[in-house]
Amino acid sequence: MQDNTLIAHESAEALAASSTWQRQLSQAVRDPAELCRRLALDDAWLAGAGAGDALFATCVPEAFLSRMAPGNPGDPLLRQVLPLGEEARAAPGFVTDPLAEAEQRPAQGLIHKYRGRALLIASPTCAVNCRYCFRRHFPYADNAPSRAQWQDALDYLREDASIREAIFSGGDPLAANDKQLAWLVGELESIRHIKRLRIHTRLPVVIPDRVDDALLGWLGSTRLQTVMVLHINHAKEIDSAVIDACARLQRAGVTLLNQSVLLRGVNDSVAALEALSERLFDARILPYYLHVLDPVAGAAHFDVSDNEARELVDKLRERLPGFLMPRLVREIPGEPSKTPL
Ligand code: SF4
Repeated sequence: MQDNTLIAHESAEALAASSTWQRQLSQAVRDPAELCRRLALDDAWLAGAGAGDALFATCVPEAFLSRMAPGNPGDPLLRQVLPLGEEARAAPGFVTDPLAEAEQRPAQGLIHKYRGRALLIASPTCAVNCRYCFRRHFPYADNAPSRAQWQDALDYLREDASIREAIFSGGDPLAANDKQLAWLVGELESIRHIKRLRIHTRLPVVIPDRVDDALLGWLGSTRLQTVMVLHINHAKEIDSAVIDACARLQRAGVTLLNQSVLLRGVNDSVAALEALSERLFDARILPYYLHVLDPVAGAAHFDVSDNEARELVDKLRERLPGFLMPRLVREIPGEPSKTPL
């Protein structure tokens, strides 16, 4: 489970010296009762919110919360972050490590699943805790290397010349500070066979101020080709601040893609998926993947069957040009790539 308390417990002095985005993160709503109160939910939601929070901590930054409609428990952004009592219910096939990542970690902080690319857990924390997250039970405490401990992972990358792409993941890699990220990027740049840096992040969406000069400084100056894969599930997540943040990233030479998860009650309609693709393109982001839900314990209530997912995507294809169609995929542990549905 992500430890979003780290920055919250910084001293007042350290906080005063932190950047705007770090202050916003430290002030995120972490009390499920406060989340219910802020969204004007009936008291009936409180017990479930508390029970869900005990399993996976609540974390919602203000910039994301401000895009939700008060008084609507079905708001598609709120549904993604509101803890529920259902999370405690066991469901057949829903497990703590649905992608069997424990078997694919050759060094601390490193996951190597697919040929040609490897994934670095650059930060154990997130800026928002999504209830359906497939890593909601991930042992982050065992995968938060210090600089010295990163050497094993970096040596592994150095010794495998087939790896052309390093992927920053997490948690959310952009929850790490820029000094740490710039150091890690410098280490990757020294490995000649690594050409690309991919960053999987939700931070520019939930706190657009994360795209500041410090971030753009190292992103814009690395020799690595940079691709940012954002994680946006609903058109309402993209407001003008997100569009501005995306424009800053693009000016720094970053290619922007998006991956979504098909979620019951959030985006499980043709209209919602069509609006999402259209809005992504408003921000000049191309849809990349639409994932069916990974069967992680606590998230079964978000599940959409494969048949329903295929039907939705078939209908979506009738409404969108090909370049706005995400690829519908499932990740199956042990397979050499994502599996198209
Ligand atoms: S889906 Fe991404 S941003 Fe959300 S909790 Fe999981 S890792 Fe963090």
